[in-house]
Amino acid sequence: MRKKVIAGNWKMNMNLHQSQKLVSEIINGLGKDSKAEVIVCPPFTSLSEVSSLLKGTQIKLGAQNMYYEESGAFTGEVSADMLKSVGCEYVILGHSERRVIFNEPDELINKKIKTALAKGLKPIFCVGELLKQRENGETMQVVSRQIEKGLEGITAQQMKNIIVAYEPVWAIGTGKTATPQQAQEVHLFIRELVAKKFSSLVAENIIIQYGGSVKSENARELLSQKDIDGALVGGACLKSESFLGIIAAA
Ligand code: PEP
Repeated sequence: MRKKVIAGNWKMNMNLHQSQKLVSEIINGLGKDSKAEVIVCPPFTSLSEVSSLLKGTQIKLGAQNMYYEESGAFTGEVSADMLKSVGCEYVILGHSERRVIFNEPDELINKKIKTALAKGLKPIFCVGELLKQRENGETMQVVSRQIEKGLEGITAQQMKNIIVAYEPVWAIGTGKTATPQQAQEVHLFIRELVAKKFSSLVAENIIIQYGGSVKSENARELLSQKDIDGALVGGACLKSESFLGIIAAA
């Protein structure tokens, strides 16, 4: 049985004070024994403080991005070691906002995944098609390319430390959710791809999250699909009640 994993991507929201308040509410609301694994991914500026507040809780810390080089003249970038030093266990890589707004190609995402793993961070590796690609019937082709290129050179052993998040871009921040059946179909496809590329054991164990306008009202049905192992949540993780509602549905 795979454990459900619920991650909150705060994106470019929450200053330091707001971050402290939100994470404190999540900690208090969650109590001691959540069945699901919970990850919060605040902006870089709040990581250190949120990390201190998470000490002694079951909630894990993730970052929203990183660069693949170790250190040096890369103004504005943050390294894996820096994230580790403030207590991050996870890092979101390949998010569609990085791919589309910041033009991150598959090859760059692959380099970031390799560095993250080498440094002991667990990537939450996002894939998903644009609306036009879904309308043209290219969903599986796009997802397959992203998986192939993003995971090039990754070993079966390393796959134990990767979470895949299927996030149809047309469902992110739009209020449009993929139906549980649409999501399940792609999740199963991803699991089969992973089985072919690595092994059926790796495929059986890999966590595949769904992301795209998940909220407490639709979480239960999505999370009850056989191949949906959790959620990557954007908008609905910015209010503790709705994030806690999604965790309770897992
Ligand atoms: C996301 O950005 O990863 C996301 C799923 O956002 P939202 O839940 O707001 O659609």
